[in-house]
Amino acid sequence: MSTTPQPRATREPERPETRARAEIDLAALRANVRALRERVAPGGARLMAVVKADAYGHGAVPCARAALQAGASWLGTATPFEALALRDAGIDAPLLCWLWTPGGPFRAAVEAGIDIGVSGLWALDAVVEAARAAGRPARVQLKADTGLGRNGCLADDWPRLVGEALKAQADGHLRVTGLWSHFACADEPGHPSIGAQLSRFHDMLEYAEKAGAEPEVRHLANSPATLTLPETHFDLVRTGVAMYGISPAPELGTPADFGLRPVMRLSAAVASVKQAPAGLGVSYGHHYVTERETHLALVPLGYADGVPRHASGRGPVLLGGAVRTVAGRVAMDQFVLDLGDDKAEPGDRAVLFGPGDDGEPTAEDWARAAGTIAYEIVTRVGSRVPRVHLHERE
Ligand SMILES: *Cc1c(COP(=O)(O)O)cnc(C)c1O
Repeated sequence: MSTTPQPRATREPERPETRARAEIDLAALRANVRALRERVAPGGARLMAVVKADAYGHGAVPCARAALQAGASWLGTATPFEALALRDAGIDAPLLCWLWTPGGPFRAAVEAGIDIGVSGLWALDAVVEAARAAGRPARVQLKADTGLGRNGCLADDWPRLVGEALKAQADGHLRVTGLWSHFACADEPGHPSIGAQLSRFHDMLEYAEKAGAEPEVRHLANSPATLTLPETHFDLVRTGVAMYGISPAPELGTPADFGLRPVMRLSAAVASVKQAPAGLGVSYGHHYVTERETHLALVPLGYADGVPRHASGRGPVLLGGAVRTVAGRVAMDQFVLDLGDDKAEPGDRAVLFGPGDDGEPTAEDWARAAGTIAYEIVTRVGSRVPRVHLHERE
């Protein structure tokens, strides 16, 4: 380690939110959680706030806290380090984590009281070993593959997994706290796989319960199923994208149609504006050439910040009261808007997306421009963009 004294910083203190920021409206998130709870409450189901992938780019810890304030009973993450980070932040709500690889860390999860999603025998063995080492039983939620064809235990392998888990439960190594599965096509109501998955889930539940499982929770529904398929709610619904105010099935309705409001607003300060002649090639590859004398504004956000390069020449941005289209390529750190006769000043705010009430585009608009889904637009906003959490207290 070096003992050389560090030179004192001579530059101004950094104010990272001046270039660009993603404002996260936690009041909107709480309202979305309440709207979703109202949908499931009649059947008695509770709500798991899915905060994987840094809460879909919105900031895991503040979003988890806000969701719990609004009545979510559970939290869900994909990876164990996401789950442990919530515990490290002092969040002790029931927490399920479902994407495991050998090495876990299973013991840390057992010690932190995290429910471990188990889809196969190798993971069950690892959990038992971790519970022995930790000196306390693990909490295990067995995951069925009812037809997603991704993670989860297929019906043919289910009796063996259930049998081994219940044996380990009898030996005091674990408790089977949950039985669950995940949909493939819940965002396409009427898709034949939905009914098939639901019926297989009933069968697999029945098998496990007849074998002696007494789960605290049985769950299947993600956001689209929560909004459109009440018969899939069981004891708990796992909502991700809807909680962030994004429609999980844009063909079926806007966020407002479902009583939801987008939570993230992504904006940047214009870095420069210049008068440009006709015939100027703009940005890498010169895919855009000015047709006449015009004003070009430079927006300091690029694909390193999550602005999709696929939206080159297509992405919509609100600046100076009008929605404009990205001129030419999105580069790593910046892109250009052609303002025509309009003017702008360095420091003016360019809004890429938000709730839409001030005329700004939405994440859904960007998804369409980039040929993807809004899930990806918000989740990919880069770590260089500070998240500014608003309305942290009720
Ligand atoms: C991501 C995820 C969810 C949440 O999905 P949304 O469509 O965002 O609600 C639920 N369950 C599992 C297993 C997931 O991986």
